[in-house]
Order: sequence, then C-alpha cells, then structure tokens
Amino acid sequence: MEIYLATESKGKLKEYQAAFKSNKNVILKTLSDLPQKIKDAYNPAEVGHTFLENAFIKARALYSLVQKPVIGEDAGLCVNALDGRPGIYSARYASTDESRVNKLLRELRDQKDRRAYFISVLCYLEKPQMPVYFIGKVFGFISNKPRGTSGFGYDPIFIPEGHEKTFAELMTEQKENLSHRGKAIHLLTRFLQQRSHA
Ligand code: IMP
Repeated sequence: MEIYLATESKGKLKEYQAAFKSNKNVILKTLSDLPQKIKDAYNPAEVGHTFLENAFIKARALYSLVQKPVIGEDAGLCVNALDGRPGIYSARYASTDESRVNKLLRELRDQKDRRAYFISVLCYLEKPQMPVYFIGKVFGFISNKPRGTSGFGYDPIFIPEGHEKTFAELMTEQKENLSHRGKAIHLLTRFLQQRSHA
C-alpha cells in the first residue's frame, strides 16, 4: 500500500525512509512525489495546542489533497527545567536549527537539571474521520554544548538516557532504535501488519 508522508522536513524524511526500507508492504510517498500544484497547496496552519492536534492538522491537510492514506507527525523537545518548553513550539523557537539550539543552551546556562524528552506523535489517517495515533518518547539530557553533525534540529544537544553520545553523534540506524520517532513508527508498522493479517 501507498502512504503519503505529510512533512517538508528533510531530517524527518530521511528517518522515515530508513525506517520503512525493510517494510515491503508499504510504499512511502512524500510531498516530492506529488504534482507541484498539490505541493503548493499543502500549507497546514499549526494552530493546535497539543502535539496530537497538530499531527491531525497536518494529516488532514494532506489527506484532503490526495485522498489516500497519510501520516502527519508533530514532534518536539520538552525540557524539565523550562516547564516543558519548547514543546509544541520546538520548530518555531527561533529562526534556524543553530539559533534554536543556542537559545536553549543559553536558557539552561548554570542549570543543573538537564532532563528532557523528545516526543513524536503520528496521526495515521486512512479515512477522514478515523485518525489513529502512535506516540513515541525518548528520555535523556541536554548537553552543555552541541556535539556531532548527523541528524537535525536539537540532535546535537540531546543525549539519550544510558548513552554518552548525542543523537547527532549517532548513525541514523542507531538513532532510529532509540528515538521517539523510531518508536512511534514501529508502533504504526506493527498496527499495519496486524491489520493486514486480521
Ligand atoms: P514539527 O516539524 O512541527 O514536528 O517540528 C518539530 C521540531 O522539533 C523540529 O523542527 C526540530 O526542531 C524538533 N525535533 C523534532 N524531532 C526531532 C529530532 O528527532 N531531532 C531533533 N530535533 C527534533
């Protein structure tokens, strides 16, 4: 079956493509597989107050254009000492990945409590009124300075619990096994497999 992924994030896309590579039952389609007119029309307003709402908004926006199964994802980093910020505002916390990372490090300067978690909420939409949600989380810590060059977003400052390297120091496959997104995708894949056997 074909599933369309509602994201323009190259970082996310790379991780989805890696995670779905071995799943022969799913052909993952992206916005770049769609005609320019549809791509241009995909412009969801992230006005939700929760990750779930925003994941649904993205999925619904693409579904209304392609009328095929879609995945919408909303993800973010929640930092304990900042009362869960940047949370749903992770992508909008500052204007670039680098400035977002630096802003967060500034806010955590002299802060001993560096606990944080990433969350990914996937909204799978096959029929407009029937969203199914899959949630993955990974707990960890914010490093004192950025390290590593792979991944995207806040990866250079996030150290998953039980590890020493940041996400940006790990290979895509290693991150997939540990990450919020990897876990949520795994749940979705299992759901699709179980349903095809039902
Ligand atoms: P979204 O595209 O609205 O879901 O925004 C998610 C934002 O959260 C991204 O732009 C990143 O800044 C951050 N984020 C989400 N997942 C990750 C990840 O796996 N690594 C690093 N940053 C992430």
